[in-house]
Amino acid sequence: MNKEPVSRELFDEVMVPNYAPGSVIPVKGEGSRIWDQEGREFVDLAGGIAVTSLGHAHPGLVGELMDQANKLWHLSNVLTNEPALRLAKTLCDLTFAERVFFANSGGEANEAAFKLARRYAWEHFGPDKHEIISFKNAFHGRTLFTVSVGGQPKYLEGFEPAPGGIQHADFNDLDSVKKLISREKTCAVVVEPIQGESGVMPAQPEFLQGLRDLCDEHDALLVFDEVQTGVGRTGHLYAYQMYGVTPDILSSAKSLGGGFPVAAMLTTAKIAASLGFGTHGSTYGGNPLACAVAQKVVDTVSQPEILKGVQARSARLKKGLMAIGERFGVFSEVRGAGLLLGCALTEKWQGRAKDFLAAGMEQGVMVLVAGADTVRLAPSLIIPEADIDEALARFEKAVESLCS
Ligand SMILES: *Cc1c(COP(=O)(O)O)cnc(C)c1O
Repeated sequence: MNKEPVSRELFDEVMVPNYAPGSVIPVKGEGSRIWDQEGREFVDLAGGIAVTSLGHAHPGLVGELMDQANKLWHLSNVLTNEPALRLAKTLCDLTFAERVFFANSGGEANEAAFKLARRYAWEHFGPDKHEIISFKNAFHGRTLFTVSVGGQPKYLEGFEPAPGGIQHADFNDLDSVKKLISREKTCAVVVEPIQGESGVMPAQPEFLQGLRDLCDEHDALLVFDEVQTGVGRTGHLYAYQMYGVTPDILSSAKSLGGGFPVAAMLTTAKIAASLGFGTHGSTYGGNPLACAVAQKVVDTVSQPEILKGVQARSARLKKGLMAIGERFGVFSEVRGAGLLLGCALTEKWQGRAKDFLAAGMEQGVMVLVAGADTVRLAPSLIIPEADIDEALARFEKAVESLCS
């Protein structure tokens, strides 16, 4: 096998140009540190976009992966397997869920959620009740259905015609939902408890409770997209538990696999019955390797001391970010929950979030953006405090370099 070093230039020669990766190619990670081809070290506050929930090369995850790798990799859903059954049981024990469908990505879990919502309404109320209400600036994935339910028109440009029967209300504005919802037509309301991609915007608790009440009144299902907020990210296993508002369907991915592709759609037994035999599926969904790794992630993250640790780390990181924001006048607000934080740029810095990411890389710290006006942080849920402090010191230098 050819394992000669490769350079960033090769990307433009062999890859579809839908991404624009930075010049650094990481080759190794441990905990919240990452090293590139030249041995340059970075502190990772990006977490692979809220994915590497237990950091890199976590010994427990590596152990589970190796253990399962030596036993059985794949079967397809013609047969079930032990890791998938155990993980589904764990997710049911820890959440409102009574039934689980496994997939491989957030988009695919949402696709299942939206199809289920349609099918449930079709079965119980007839074909007219098919409309989905979602929110402007929402992000639900890149399949044609999920990108249509998402509320960012730029992601649909040139891909139309899009699936129909989708309406967009204003996030955190219950009245805008009241104007669209109806018993005759609405099958589901879909919402991220914290809008991640568009700027780390938390839903107000009254808003989510209001959606719950509206859905109950109109026989519509409430779907929470917890792809980014789930699996400990907010300091609660799922954000719905923090809000105290229970959805009918929930999608989970990103942190669930800690870096191994896996996703889940959670729902009740009654609703699940509408995805009967043959109505939906996924070849890789519930793959034993993926489920063995996810089991270790969920078992670890759901421990009370880990979730408490997320709150403590969040407070430390937030305090440091606010201090940097104050010193340089770059952030108007640091918002979010747990270890999903967004630093909103002040007026003067609007549109320049990418510059903060690039300056961070220069100083050896990886951060994310969420849209053009927000710097986003989504580190490992067990990032050592010393790494938070080092990351903040490096990020402060990065901001200083931008300001000088
Ligand atoms: C990332 C994300 C998705 C899409 O997940 P993929 O694994 O990229 O398909 C969907 N919804 C939310 C809220 C996300 O953050």
